[in-house]
Amino acid sequence: VSGPPSQRTRVRRVPARAAYDRVVVQEIFDEALVCHVCVVDGEQPIVVPTLHARDGDRLLLHGSAASRAMRLLAAGVPAAVCATHIDGLVLARSAFFHSVNYRSAVALGAASPMDDETKLAALRLFLERYHPGRWNQVRQPSPQEFKATAVVSFPLSEASAKRRSGPPTDLAEDLGRDVWAGIIPLELRQLPPVPHRGDENASESRGR
Ligand SMILES: Cc1cc2nc3c(=O)[nH]c(=O)nc-3n(C[C@H](O)[C@H](O)[C@H](O)COP(=O)(O)OP(=O)(O)OC[C@H]3O[C@@H](n4cnc5c(N)ncnc54)[C@H](O)[C@@H]3O)c2cc1C
Repeated sequence: VSGPPSQRTRVRRVPARAAYDRVVVQEIFDEALVCHVCVVDGEQPIVVPTLHARDGDRLLLHGSAASRAMRLLAAGVPAAVCATHIDGLVLARSAFFHSVNYRSAVALGAASPMDDETKLAALRLFLERYHPGRWNQVRQPSPQEFKATAVVSFPLSEASAKRRSGPPTDLAEDLGRDVWAGIIPLELRQLPPVPHRGDENASESRGR
């Protein structure tokens, strides 16, 4: 499923690395554990790192109902959401051609608030995305917790992806230089879990 970029999503620099395929964009958001949400607050754009989940062609974003970003998103101000993966450091034989291998996606648009019914389903989807099967194991949100959490959905319909892979693109005249060149691959890994006994509680630092 692919579509042409809109006037504002067309990547201008190195357009060969761009993709506007809906599936490519969705996969980049799905694999990312965090995204960055930019909202316009009057004259000042602000950006915040935020967890996300995807429901079809929309991203779900949640947070404290009191947070600035969530209030602005729920009000439908112009916004953008970005997810990025760094797959490797690219070391060239010249300073200029150093780069990174990456996959990134940016969506432009405006969020919509969710009603109580869709909000509960969204909260479940959120937990299940990070920890499959967990929603049914843990306590469900109390009315107070439910009210304190805002959820909005953000369209992925106007979005772009950009990807770089492969070796450095050195100039021919630099290829003979006596300096290491290549790729240092990077990945995000899960380490062994650390159980919590529950007899020491850090109540003062709840929330994000
Ligand atoms: C990890 C990483 C590191 C980068 N480091 C640099 C750097 O140091 N310097 C640098 O100049 N560029 C860097 N880039 C590329 C940068 O993200 C832009 O692509 C670049 O600034 C050129 O944008 P533009 O002028 O073509 O697009 P703009 O005119 O700014 O934007 C046009 C449209 O393309 C979209 N778009 C632009 N870039 C991306 C992207 N990366 N992914 C998805 N959609 C995009 C925008 O959202 C917009 O809708 C990096 C990218 C990544 C992922």
